[in-house]
Amino acid sequence: MTDQYGRNIDYMRLSITDRCNLRCKYCMPEGITLTPHCEILTYEELLRVAAQAVALGVTKFKVTGGEPLVRKGCVGFVGQLKALPGVEQVTMTTNGLLLGEQLEGLVAAGLDAVNISLDTVNDEKYGKLTGYRGSALPRLMALLEQCVAIGMRTKVNVVLLEENQDELPELAAIAQHLPVDVRFIELMPIGYGASASGFSPDRALEQLKGCWPDLSPVSEKRGNGPAHYYASASLVGRIGFIDAVSHAFCADCNRVRLTSTGLLKPCLCYETSTDLKAVLRSGGSDADLREALRQAIYAKPRAHCFAQRDSITEQKGMSQIGG
Ligand code: SAM
Ligand code: SF4
Repeated sequence: MTDQYGRNIDYMRLSITDRCNLRCKYCMPEGITLTPHCEILTYEELLRVAAQAVALGVTKFKVTGGEPLVRKGCVGFVGQLKALPGVEQVTMTTNGLLLGEQLEGLVAAGLDAVNISLDTVNDEKYGKLTGYRGSALPRLMALLEQCVAIGMRTKVNVVLLEENQDELPELAAIAQHLPVDVRFIELMPIGYGASASGFSPDRALEQLKGCWPDLSPVSEKRGNGPAHYYASASLVGRIGFIDAVSHAFCADCNRVRLTSTGLLKPCLCYETSTDLKAVLRSGGSDADLREALRQAIYAKPRAHCFAQRDSITEQKGMSQIGG
């Protein structure tokens, strides 16, 4: 369906848990309070919401979290979501730590693509940024190769941080060795991201042009999102940028988000949401659910307000919203 500004909303992000096996500093640092399990939507409830979203024209879903793969039964959920009539695409965003062991099941369940979040290629820094104890990088690099080998469409998400500004070429070089897109995401001032220090995407692009001078924009569409991409003859994958703060792309926004507690969020920036859990748990019919969704989608705000920080009303963290 189209919203009040005529944008076609066909993409929904589903956060299926606020739990995570990492503690990324800008997302979910140590000590964060978790939501009681009873407040998190069950898979049945998520599927009811998804089915009504499909009835309104949503065809693509992103399964996210927290870390989606820490929730038991995630593979089965992906299969059920993909099997809903009218669903064209189910993709996932994950930190990858549990992906190796669940990849085969996810492929069988029909997962169409995966985004793996990786902010550094330095093991020690990975530990500092995420709280992970041990060596994750060799495993994550092998996982990328495994995803490519089985033909899974794979992207790497890198949040542009003060801490990784010195290794952007190394991160981008993943696209030199493997046919994966490496996307640099501007840090958004949401949740703990508001107190973290980011790095400018424009400066990142300049830095990368120093390594790949022929890096030039490509117009092809590569996914459902707002990333814009660059290609070089020396890269098999593409380099992407998601620069929501410095280059707003609200006029083309196609998405809504469902938090793990069932709040339908039409825009990342604002706290305004529709409590679908209340509809689900008060005996609401599918028609009630669809009407609540329809109203929320229609009323989607024209634009975010990242440029005026005082106007940001969202208080939740990204681990609750799903990124
Ligand atoms: N745990 C999964 C993961 O890390 O991919 C999925 C959930 S995570 C919230 C989804 C994405 O949001 C990740 O790529 C993460 O880096 C990104 N993210 C979290 N906080 C952010 C912020 N303040 N600004 C920009 N991206 C952020
Ligand atoms: Fe967990 Fe993903 Fe947030 Fe990191 S970015 S703490 S992996 S939810």
